[in-house]
Amino acid sequence: AWVRVKRRLRAEVGEDVFTSWLARLELSGLENGQASLSVPTRFLKSWIEAHYLDRIVTTFRSEFAGVSGIAITVRSALREPGQPARRPAPRLVVEGGGATGPLGGPQPVAATSPLPGSDRDEFAGAPLDGRLTFDSFVLGRSNALAQAAAERIAQNDRGTALYNPLYIHAGVGLGKTHLLHAAGNAARIDGRRAIYLTADRFMYGFVASLKAQTSHAFKERLRGIDLLIIDDVQFIQGKTIQQEFGHTLNALIDAGRQVVVAADRPPSELESMDERVRSRLAGGLVVEIAPLDEDLRIGILSQRLTAVAAAHPGFEVSPAVVSYVANAISTNGRDLEGAVNRLLAHATLTGTAVTIETAETAIRDLVRNREPKRIRIEDIQKLVASRYNVSRSDILSERRTAAVVKPRQIAMYLSKVLTLRSLPEIGRRFGGRDHTTVLHAVRKIEKALDGDTTLSEEVELLKRMLQE
Ligand code: ADP
Ligand code: MG
Repeated sequence: AWVRVKRRLRAEVGEDVFTSWLARLELSGLENGQASLSVPTRFLKSWIEAHYLDRIVTTFRSEFAGVSGIAITVRSALREPGQPARRPAPRLVVEGGGATGPLGGPQPVAATSPLPGSDRDEFAGAPLDGRLTFDSFVLGRSNALAQAAAERIAQNDRGTALYNPLYIHAGVGLGKTHLLHAAGNAARIDGRRAIYLTADRFMYGFVASLKAQTSHAFKERLRGIDLLIIDDVQFIQGKTIQQEFGHTLNALIDAGRQVVVAADRPPSELESMDERVRSRLAGGLVVEIAPLDEDLRIGILSQRLTAVAAAHPGFEVSPAVVSYVANAISTNGRDLEGAVNRLLAHATLTGTAVTIETAETAIRDLVRNREPKRIRIEDIQKLVASRYNVSRSDILSERRTAAVVKPRQIAMYLSKVLTLRSLPEIGRRFGGRDHTTVLHAVRKIEKALDGDTTLSEEVELLKRMLQE
């Protein structure tokens, strides 16, 4: 059960957060409804308690019924369970994931990344994905500038302070991480030392080494590299950590080393970032990747499909289907990839060619916001009450004055036509009334709508307001 708790936590918080903070959590005791979890350092204990305790408690309880309390303790730091007593020398530069195949080939198993730091001064970046290169990055109007800048800094002809730091921002799935990996991969091919870190890893590396009083080692390490890449920089939190981040930025940039970061928003909107750090981040080149236009979506889809087809002979998708998918999915690169995988799965499982109809079925779950909004009875009651100047409790009450009966009946009618609820269910939600009362109300309003234009307009308006 403990293994399941950890697996679920990993799924809930994501690979990176899990590796950084929760991977070394162990179950060390379970008695009289009290569970004891342990971590190797005091720092981890306080960090987990501050950020993840609620989630851990919830997940834990769902696997271990009857546990009333959870305590986190610090276990002896001498030896980690399942780890050799002595670790290999720290690696400054982590090699790419080793995956070289074309995009769309078999996905490497979730990177078994090295621990980002430890109580000692060991520290490594996250691995680079070897498939995320400039070659596999499809160019379009919305990302050309960001791509050009990333390629430029990967080659870093020193002294281009104009590009330092390079700050790339865009919504989710628009290719930020892809470009960062591409820059890191390119720099390493040229023999430069590049480190790729997510915000979580940066924080972990810094704070863990600070607690172990080796923070200078962490700083020296970072300052000794040619290219520092930090992804999702908006997540770097905490005053001390942000200031340290600022020092690292300054030291690198002043020494002519390149820094590139990605974020989900422009520097001016990093509200919780230290002011000086924010202005330093804004002081180089800031480029945005705009939402993918249709050409780019078709480009990305075609590239993926070509790669997948190479590995799956017989899998073919017509231009008509490509353009259908590109239109149906306007969101981002991740969903486009998801669509390709679903098309492949569908074609493989059914052994039939992909048509627009089968594509529609295959990608249905990726096509968002096409479904009508689900309307709740409670919302109907509130809206109708406010339109007729009564309160919602009047509508639910037994009162039978005309001023209350009419809005109540209208609300019941709307509940019948706008929700999938049954008459008895609607009756229950209207203060426990019988279903015949609801039926009576529905019939009455239906009849009235026939001749009463004022009422029909009124009801039509209410419908629209609810559907918006
Ligand atoms: P972000 O970091 O901005 O959220 P990612 O870089 O993770 O987005 O992109 C999501 C997926 O879409 C990745 O698999 C990426 O390779 C792909 N992708 C995004 N833009 C492009 C592009 N221009 N060319 C090829 N693949 C892309
Ligand atoms: Mg990303």
